[in-house]
Amino acid sequence: MFSLTQFPLQFSENDLLPYMSAETLQCHHGKHLATYIKNLNDLTVGTEYEAMPLYEIIKKSVTDPNAKKIFNNAAQVFNHDFFFKGMKQNGGGKAPDEITKYFGGADNFISEIKNAATGVFGSGWAWLVQDGDVIKITTTANADTPIAHDLIPLLAIDVWEHAYYLDYQNRRADFVDAFLTHLVNWDFVLSNLNK
Ligand code: MN
Repeated sequence: MFSLTQFPLQFSENDLLPYMSAETLQCHHGKHLATYIKNLNDLTVGTEYEAMPLYEIIKKSVTDPNAKKIFNNAAQVFNHDFFFKGMKQNGGGKAPDEITKYFGGADNFISEIKNAATGVFGSGWAWLVQDGDVIKITTTANADTPIAHDLIPLLAIDVWEHAYYLDYQNRRADFVDAFLTHLVNWDFVLSNLNK
């Protein structure tokens, strides 16, 4: 039997202050992500999904009408691990030219990704993805994930309210701004190119 265990954070809970609090990380990583992992393990026991790597669970369950819960939990496990890896202490700064050249420069890029993230209606995600030879911005609703659409994820911004409500209440735009200005780990983003 194969079961997933918690994905550790690459930083300490206080490292992202004042832009993301320890309370938010304890709740978001320690409770939300942990629950998706537990649910996925519980749902896959004794099924064909039990021993699959997470990526394969997502690719298979998205086409399986009897596996909606498995897809939702597996995708949320992937999305959250990817989101947490996309941040670091003293992150942010100028977005790399390798990315911004697809958007007509850094200013346009930041404005487009902010608009995408603030424009998600309800719960979901804003993404930077590679689609063949092109880098683009996209959004997904609820648990949906770019890898279910054959896109290579480069960066995830979680815009479910649980990602920012403790620190920013309803001010999602302030959270997105802080994420891009102070938290995003551009080295991680570039490391995902051409994977
Ligand atoms: Mn989340």
